[in-house]
Amino acid sequence: MADNHKMWEELGMNLELHDQLCAVLPQAVGDVFLSQENRPEGMDYYDMVVADIHGIRPSELIAHQENGGKVFGTFCVYVPDEVIFAADAIATGLCGGSQFWVPGGEKVLPTNTCPLIKASVGARLDRTCPFFRIADMYIGETTCDGKKKAWEILSEDVPVHVMDLPQMKRVKDVKAWAEEIAALKDVVEKFTGNQVTPEKLAENIKLINNKRKALARLYECRKSETVPISGTDALVISQIAFYDDPARFAQMTNKLCDELEKRIAEGVSVVSAGTKRIMLTGTPLAIPNWKLHNIVETSGAVVVCEEMCTGTRYFERYVDETKETLEEQIDAIAERYMGINCACFTPNHARIDDIIRLAKEYKVDGIIDVNLKFCNLYDTEGYFVERALKEEGIPVLGIETDYTDSDAQQLRTRVSAFVEMLNN
Ligand code: SF4
Ligand code: SF4
Repeated sequence: MADNHKMWEELGMNLELHDQLCAVLPQAVGDVFLSQENRPEGMDYYDMVVADIHGIRPSELIAHQENGGKVFGTFCVYVPDEVIFAADAIATGLCGGSQFWVPGGEKVLPTNTCPLIKASVGARLDRTCPFFRIADMYIGETTCDGKKKAWEILSEDVPVHVMDLPQMKRVKDVKAWAEEIAALKDVVEKFTGNQVTPEKLAENIKLINNKRKALARLYECRKSETVPISGTDALVISQIAFYDDPARFAQMTNKLCDELEKRIAEGVSVVSAGTKRIMLTGTPLAIPNWKLHNIVETSGAVVVCEEMCTGTRYFERYVDETKETLEEQIDAIAERYMGINCACFTPNHARIDDIIRLAKEYKVDGIIDVNLKFCNLYDTEGYFVERALKEEGIPVLGIETDYTDSDAQQLRTRVSAFVEMLNN
């Protein structure tokens, strides 16, 4: 691994604090990933990316800036990367998934804010994440109240553009989202000095669709009775999708899928036959939040699907590639993104339908409905999720957690009891 200290110093990072994070990451990666048995060889690429997560991709982003390009940081799967890439800029995910960043966020946010928001604000203000330092502009959205206020705080430190996401799905709401996407295009054009032409947008709609298709292929492999990859490995791939170069990510993921499809054909599984198949639903698991997957998969079960933004909500459905004018393309983008079912929408029956559909497609034995502490939206929607699953006869365990390890033992006890119940 290259010595990245010079780069981090030039980014104005707090090196002393950041070194503390770097000191614990290799151990965490070793414990969670490298201890797994019979991993696909194609995981080497993702292991390398995670091991040098604050080195490899940040230096590529800086090289892009040195060539005159801009980098935009995003926090939500509703923000359309296509538009950003079409202006010869790069979009990178900025969601914080570590407890390390939470105290920094708590300096300015109420304690009863969800850890994802606290970690994201803390990573910026404490200067301990290169991605948060590199991004020239942040693109926020009005998905939940905590985020709306967080953008106001962050905008005192970095340029922030906020997209106004409608919270119903009527025809006029899809139209309003198309207008917000057109406004984003204008902001991105002005900030980069590059024009988004229909040709550029068409090219980048394909680029991002190809990334989605690679993820869809990976998830298709996870539907098989033969489990060719652990849920923990699949999760880190989903997390890396937010940061990596989209074309390279699709290429490496398709290469991995060649191996996984071969494993399925040859009956090579990472778990023994009859291992209970679990789906996680709920709030996103931003990198490096691997806690629950690790607990489930070291408690005798396997995670085969995530109905989450770090999962199916990120890649299902494609933007129509046949549109030719900017207006039609933007409408097609709005249509695709408004098909995502986040708990910030009302009503949100389609998410419940998605969960039932996915449970069948992935042949799951049980579902764990995960809520990040202080996320009222997903917590409240859990009422409908659990009721619908009970009606369908699908066992469900609802849990609430944060980024600390203080509840790990208690979670392990509850997950083990749930798996035992499924086995009986
Ligand atoms: S859970 Fe909702 S607000 Fe959070 S990233 Fe997903 S879509 Fe965006
Ligand atoms: S997990 Fe909930 S509270 Fe946290 S950012 Fe997402 S929608 Fe907002």
